[in-house]
Amino acid sequence: MACKLGHKHSMNLPRHRGLQDVRTRLETAAQAAGRKASEITLIAVSKTFGAETILPVLQAGQMAFGENRVQEAAGKWPALRSSAAGLELHLIGPLQSNKAADAVRLFDAIHTIDRPRIAQTVAAEMAKQARQLQLFIQVNTGDEKQKAGVSVGSADSFIAECRNKYGLHISGLMCIPPINEAPDQHFALLAHIARRNDLTNLSMGMSGDFETAIKHGATHVRVGSAIFGTREGQPH
Ligand SMILES: *Cc1c(COP(=O)(O)O)cnc(C)c1O
Repeated sequence: MACKLGHKHSMNLPRHRGLQDVRTRLETAAQAAGRKASEITLIAVSKTFGAETILPVLQAGQMAFGENRVQEAAGKWPALRSSAAGLELHLIGPLQSNKAADAVRLFDAIHTIDRPRIAQTVAAEMAKQARQLQLFIQVNTGDEKQKAGVSVGSADSFIAECRNKYGLHISGLMCIPPINEAPDQHFALLAHIARRNDLTNLSMGMSGDFETAIKHGATHVRVGSAIFGTREGQPH
């Protein structure tokens, strides 16, 4: 399909309803927070959706996408990507060290660095492949047993370890608040941990709460269902 992607000033790109709605919400939230919409990266989370659903969003000018599984992304993105110069792919789901090589090859950013083994493996793979990815450390702000992310109490030391021991340039922090709690305090906590560690980027906020995240300083919001519609079959 001959689509002209990569054209940033795009008066006549085809429109996508879900994307348009989310961009409007994002701009309104940024304005309400006294921030510029242009300093907030909208990541369109396309997990579980096929190329036929993703392509219209790409064609509407969306350039950053998120996936939570390396294997799923490896199956669908190389082909999509070849049609879109400048596209950014973000890994937002847990990473196993045996998938690190594939992840470093495929993605431009990883939001889920959360333990020494992953930090070490990603550092080694980036060196080997001569690639620099944008890296976020995931913080388990609710200290939930079943959830990935470094605990709140070890966040500072893990950030230091990533920097000093593994030589990683850490771009920011990421969190997924507990489902049954108001997200405000979690976003505020993540922003607080970032500030005291001199980190500028905050990956927080999803379809239901990204306006709140923007109020608390989110620089990267990860939005799936509000753009693409409801996901079938998969709970996450
Ligand atoms: C699925 C997912 C999202 C997007 O969730 P929506 O509620 O569909 O916007 C954001 N972040 C992570 C880590 C996810 O797994």
